[in-house]
Amino acid sequence: MTRDTAPKGNLWQASAAERFEARPLSGTMTVDLAVIGGGFTGLSAALGAAGQGARVAVLEARQVGHGGSGRNVGLVNAGLWLPPEGVRRVMGQEAGERLNRALAGGPDLVFDLIERHGIACEPQRAGTLHCAHSARGLADLEDRYRQMKVMNAPVTLLDGDRTQARTGARGVYGALHDARAGTIQPLAYARGLARAAREAGARIFEQSPVIEARWSGRSWHVRTAEGSITARRLLNATNAYQAPTEGVALPAVPVVNFFQLATEPVPGLADKVLPGGEGCWDTGLIMTSFRRDLQGRLILGAIGLPERGGSLHHDWARRKLRQLFPDHAGAALSHAWSGRISMTSDHVPKAMRLEGNGLAIFGYSGRGIAPGTLLGRAAAQALLGDDDEMLPLPVTERMGGWFSGSRSLYYEAGARLVHFLGARR
Ligand SMILES: Cc1cc2nc3c(=O)[nH]c(=O)nc-3n(C[C@H](O)[C@H](O)[C@H](O)COP(=O)(O)OP(=O)(O)OC[C@H]3O[C@@H](n4cnc5c(N)ncnc54)[C@H](O)[C@@H]3O)c2cc1C
Repeated sequence: MTRDTAPKGNLWQASAAERFEARPLSGTMTVDLAVIGGGFTGLSAALGAAGQGARVAVLEARQVGHGGSGRNVGLVNAGLWLPPEGVRRVMGQEAGERLNRALAGGPDLVFDLIERHGIACEPQRAGTLHCAHSARGLADLEDRYRQMKVMNAPVTLLDGDRTQARTGARGVYGALHDARAGTIQPLAYARGLARAAREAGARIFEQSPVIEARWSGRSWHVRTAEGSITARRLLNATNAYQAPTEGVALPAVPVVNFFQLATEPVPGLADKVLPGGEGCWDTGLIMTSFRRDLQGRLILGAIGLPERGGSLHHDWARRKLRQLFPDHAGAALSHAWSGRISMTSDHVPKAMRLEGNGLAIFGYSGRGIAPGTLLGRAAAQALLGDDDEMLPLPVTERMGGWFSGSRSLYYEAGARLVHFLGARR
């Protein structure tokens, strides 16, 4: 029987080669753009704005990458969770097509930034494999393949045998490989964006929760415990981790939990599991993800497991290892962590106008690495250029019904029930 070492928390905190530290805001300053939130969206906005010569300040409540950006699976995908036709159906033909086209280039932007700024975040551009967990899942992938081919995406459909050879996983019915995609160490990427933004002239402040942000009719007045900023423009990029800010009315964001566990490094793992280095997730309603890191750890994730679940998490991981990778069923588990995903009911991200010259971008519904990088940058351009057209997402003037709390709770409760029943088998 394998003895798991004591869970050490978030693996990305332990393995990030990039370091970043910033002091809290104190005193006063005036900038062109104030950004609330130090994740991919806010940091990419800051990097883009500073690169254009704008004065920009980022205020982060905890540390850079504290939110979803420092906790995710690290799959850099093109497009959203919804397939292209679904995006057009929800947004309308023209707006949907525009967003699809923009997001198709999302991984290029991410991997270009990594290269240009020398970000040490374990980038691997070997593509991702969306794996079919059943015959029905394979039919869904065939439909996605058809839709993506219409957009000339470099996708390939693999049968069960080829998928098993590429992943080393048992019981997979096939997979959709997307060559545009890849994997990163997400916290290191967030820290690298922060470093690059600072090198470009952005001011970044950690341990600086924004308590209040008010539009005076001419400018924003943004207040933290020990300082304040006057800004011509404001970007709110707090997403699923928003802490209340007086003066900024955002919709309450229903969130679902996503849990991950990592094994200790397994000698020779790369010979058998994902020898090509792809990142994977599956078609299950209760989605499972799996990938390797550069140290040879196997990392498994699932939606719907509660934030603190003790043995439930370990039991789930053992079952998944037995089911997918029986040769590694006994691998010791060393790290366990979770994160919150903001889910819009239509699975499309939102850009919402705040009073005056302000925008909030949120609701990536589990696809935020490339979309957050791309939309953050575009939001900064739109704000500084006073031109909404620079965002490939329509700006809505008021809150919509995108966050159906009951729906997200229903999903979360359903996912937990499936995990609970699985645990009894
Ligand atoms: C477990 C998990 C797995 C995922 N897997 C993937 C994946 O593989 N691929 C993918 O593309 N996407 C994935 N996602 C989604 C992706 O991580 C997020 O969509 C993305 O990180 C959101 O970035 P963001 O910058 O908008 O928000 P966040 O990274 O959440 O940043 C928001 C920041 O705002 C700060 N903040 C909040 N309130 C205040 C305040 N009042 N003042 C100052 N600061 C404040 C928070 O501390 C936080 O750091 C996953 C998410 C999770 C949680």
